[in-house]
Amino acid sequence: MAPAEDATADRASHSRSKKRTIETASVSESSASSDDSSRRKKRRDRKALKKKSSESSLVLAANGARPSAFAKRRNSLGKAARDPRDQAKKGVPAGALRSPSPVIDEDGLSRPSTGTRERREENAEQAEQRLVKMRGAVRTLLECVGEDPDREGLLDTPSRYAKALLFLTKGYQVNVEDIVNNALFHEGHNEMVIVKDIEIYSLCEHHLVPFTGKMHIGYIPSDTVIGLSKLPRIAEMYARRLQIQERLTKEVAHAIMEILKPQGVAVVMESSHLCMVMRGVEKTSTTTITSCVLGCFERKSKTRNEFFSLVGVNR
Ligand SMILES: [Zn+2]
Repeated sequence: MAPAEDATADRASHSRSKKRTIETASVSESSASSDDSSRRKKRRDRKALKKKSSESSLVLAANGARPSAFAKRRNSLGKAARDPRDQAKKGVPAGALRSPSPVIDEDGLSRPSTGTRERREENAEQAEQRLVKMRGAVRTLLECVGEDPDREGLLDTPSRYAKALLFLTKGYQVNVEDIVNNALFHEGHNEMVIVKDIEIYSLCEHHLVPFTGKMHIGYIPSDTVIGLSKLPRIAEMYARRLQIQERLTKEVAHAIMEILKPQGVAVVMESSHLCMVMRGVEKTSTTTITSCVLGCFERKSKTRNEFFSLVGVNR
């Protein structure tokens, strides 16, 4: 039966009901039994509810798709973005290379991707092309916020911002082996070493807005110590890229663990996120503290507590 025809029949049999809507057609399949109208009402209610909660049904749909979305999502630390070219290096005799690491790649680059390698290896011409592309993008952003990119004060902003962004993310290009540069010394020292209050300036990868704070790094050597200035430089290398504080803390700890092979490493970071302070919840005095403890710091609560009390974080 065609819907229109059916609706007409329906309308005839229920002429007492004045409130006829198009919905009738959609429920007209039901037989004209005595409980027909109540059933129809129920359906109508359900339909109305569905319409009202279109938002929540979207959430449901998202929930439904969750497992696959999670499966696809890359674990940032566990599966570092690998450049396919690294695969070719496997097969080099063991011992010549480090063990596969989540934070440092075989050639000393960390979290490399095709993009970071291109950036490191580009020539002057390619660097200029990159800047041209970035300037265009910044100009578009300026237009989008309602500004006139051609007014005097903004003329050089795209160029300045592009350079600033490259500076703020220069950690991508840094090779950890260049940083360490053989500053590893066999001193037979086995007591805790702490470098406190390392200033950190990083960019939140979710909002591209800075988060700044202090990092404290401690380790207990297995005879080998590292030049003290190297610890802030390792922290800086991981901070100068798009980050989240949790991962930054973890990456620094794992990198030191791998470079130095100490008995243990502890890293704690306190910082203030401008994406929280200037927007969102606008809580100006909040501090986020993250920590990562490895080796003996993880195993021994006494060692861990000593570290936390020395750096002034009570846990
Ligand atoms: Zn953010």
